[in-house]
Order: sequence, then structure tokens, then C-alpha cells
Amino acid sequence: MTDDLADAAARPTPVRLRSALGALPEYTPGRPAAVRDGLTAYKISSNENPFPPLPSVLDVVRDAAGSVNRYPDMAVTALTEALAARLGVPAARISTGPGSVGVLDQLIRATCDDGDEVVFAWRSFEAYPILTTLAGAVPVQVPLAPGARHDLDAMAAAVTERTRLVLVCTPNNPTGTTVGAAELDAFLDRVPSDVVVVLDEAYLEFVDAPDAPDALAVHEARPNVVVLRTFSKAYGLAGLRVGYAVAHEPVAAALRTSALPFGVNSLAQAAAIASLDAADELDVRVKELVAERERVVAALREQGWDVPDQQANFVWFGLGDDTAAFAAACEAEGLTVRPYGTDGVRATIAETEANDRLVEVAGRFLAARP
Ligand SMILES: *Cc1c(COP(=O)(O)O)cnc(C)c1O
Repeated sequence: MTDDLADAAARPTPVRLRSALGALPEYTPGRPAAVRDGLTAYKISSNENPFPPLPSVLDVVRDAAGSVNRYPDMAVTALTEALAARLGVPAARISTGPGSVGVLDQLIRATCDDGDEVVFAWRSFEAYPILTTLAGAVPVQVPLAPGARHDLDAMAAAVTERTRLVLVCTPNNPTGTTVGAAELDAFLDRVPSDVVVVLDEAYLEFVDAPDAPDALAVHEARPNVVVLRTFSKAYGLAGLRVGYAVAHEPVAAALRTSALPFGVNSLAQAAAIASLDAADELDVRVKELVAERERVVAALREQGWDVPDQQANFVWFGLGDDTAAFAAACEAEGLTVRPYGTDGVRATIAETEANDRLVEVAGRFLAARP
């Protein structure tokens, strides 16, 4: 937030606003990349794809821009059908939205009445407590297990009669760890079938763990499982806002009912279809990013960092009380990373130069640490 906006938020007003707003976690400003003489600055705090849009995707977006005087297709027909064909599921099981954050918002509103509970790991994706609280539901945050992994036993134990939704983020943002297929199955056996379980796979394309779950197969076998995916990360369309859920028909229909009309704009629809058509080309980029991730993780471990298995397009530094100091050290070298209180720092795998610099800064930081 800029100072102006912060001042405006603090100004007294006679207007009554919802009390839930006061309970929201404080907004942490996403700073622009720091600028330093002779040093290219990199913003590696938002897990964006460093590759620019493919020419084929840009062409389609340019064409679609010629019709922005018209409303988009409200039913998102062509994209829904393209996704259904690619995933091998009926189109009626797909519901799109403005980013998978938008779809998750719809899902919380479609499942939770006031005071109902949403269970998720913590730390996990920062949008979870915000969307839950805004919907009038209650976040139930279950601490991660050692190794920065989901504690699925504790999450199953946290389910009560008020629970309507459980969010499983795999790979987990910000710690980069996945849940295993077998432990997920055992967990799902313990969750009542009237509670919706979301598998948030925003980083699916970057996963190469052999024991990772096949979320679509899990969904197929269980009526309460919803798979959430996005075009923002691997497909590089973060600025256009488009994501989707795969859910059994009644849930998918509820998602469409609770959606903001025309939430997925026409440029996003066109770009998403073009990206599915260019999946092989995009996959080459994903593989490059995964190779870079592995290179960075190996270098950090070599330096002595204890890095958990990383399966997304970022690396997690579990720094504890050194979180702010490490973020400042990165900032001083032109790298804007994402600090999380006194838990740690998340840094996105980006351009090779940024990755190299991250490893350098991390090495120096560790060497200087008492
Ligand atoms: C980035 C991200 C999303 C999706 O974001 P959208 O841009 O709204 O599609 C969803 N879940 C997690 C865990 C993420 O990190």
C-alpha cells in the first residue's frame, strides 16, 4: 500500500463497514523491484512466469482486443469445451473464473454460511484466510508439520460439524512441498463426504515428484473433491486472470451460480484457449524453470541450507527470526523477495541472472550468520 492509501484507510468515517474487515490479516505491500546502479532489478516475489507471452498467444489477444466493446461469452463456452477435451472430463464439471482465486472465492461462498469453518494448512496461500473471512466463514489454520509439509493427520482431526471446506495446497505456497498420493487417500477417507476438499494445484505443471497425487483421478473417485487450477503460473497469463475448477456436476453448477457475471473477460478466454493449443511450447519453458529450480536448490543445499523438497516455481527459505534480514540482504542486491513474518522467505525462480544472484546472496548470508 502506498502511504496515501494507508492514510485513507486510517481516516475516520461515519460509515458502517463490516466488522469482518477488521479481522483481516494486515496487507503486506508488494514492493516494486529495488533499483540500484548497474544492477538489473528483479521482482521475484509473486511467482510470475519470467517468459513473455508466446507470439501466438499475443496475436490472439491483439485480435480479441478489437471486440472489447462487446461483453465476453458469459458461459465461457469455447474455453470450457477446450478444457474438457484436454482433461478428459465432461464440460459440465468445469467452472472457470477470474483466476483460481476468483473460483475459490465462489467456492467458499457456495459452501459456507456465516460461521462455517474452512480448514487449511498454515503457512499456506495468503488468499485463504482473506477470502474465508470476507465470506463470513471462520479460518481454521493447522500448523505445517516438520519439513514444511501439510500435516494431514492434524487437518483431518481439525474437521468439525461446522467444517464445509478443506483446502489442500499442493505444491504448497509458500513452502513448495507436495502431499503424497497415499497420505492424501488416507486423509480423504477420514473427511466426511459432505465436506468439500479442494486440491489447489496452481503449480501442478512444475511437479516432478513421483509420489504426487493424480488429482483428476482422485476427483473422479470422490464426489467431494474439487481440483483448482490456473493459467497464471506455468502458462504465464497472470495479468489476464483466468483459472478453473474441476468439480462434480452439482458443485460445478453451484460455482457457476455463485460466479460474478462476465468474470472471465474475452481476452483471457481467447488467451487461455491459445495457450492450451500451445501447450507443448509452454511445456518447454516449464521444463527450463524446473531445471533452474533444481539447480538453485542443489546450490543452496551445497552451501548448507536446509531446503525442503521443492516442487513449484519458487524456493522456500525457512529462516525464522532471520526472515527480515535475509529479505533486506536480497533487496540490497536488487532482488525483491517475499518475506513471511518470522517464518521464512519465498523467492521465485526467474531469469538465470536473478537465480544466480539469489544463490550468491544466500551463500553470503549463510556465511555471515553466527
Ligand atoms: C498463484 C496461486 C493461485 C492462483 O492465482 P490466480 O492468479 O488467481 O489464478 C492459486 N493458488 C495458489 C496457491 C497460488 O499460489
